[in-house]
Amino acid sequence: MKDTTIEPVRHTPDAPARRDCLRCKAPFDSSGFGERICRRCKLSSTWRTSPQRGAVGAPGRRR
Ligand SMILES: [Zn+2]
Repeated sequence: MKDTTIEPVRHTPDAPARRDCLRCKAPFDSSGFGERICRRCKLSSTWRTSPQRGAVGAPGRRR
């Protein structure tokens, strides 16, 4: 019996765990894949990075 008390915490970036967002430093549930940014920041960063993407809820209306 070796693996009884010692349950090594997975420090693998590919494992889903709760991490602190590197942007807002808020604890969020990382789904793995080396996710280090919360959904919020990710979303904002996404629509910020891709200006040609109209996937935002608000319609792109230019005045
Ligand atoms: Zn964040």
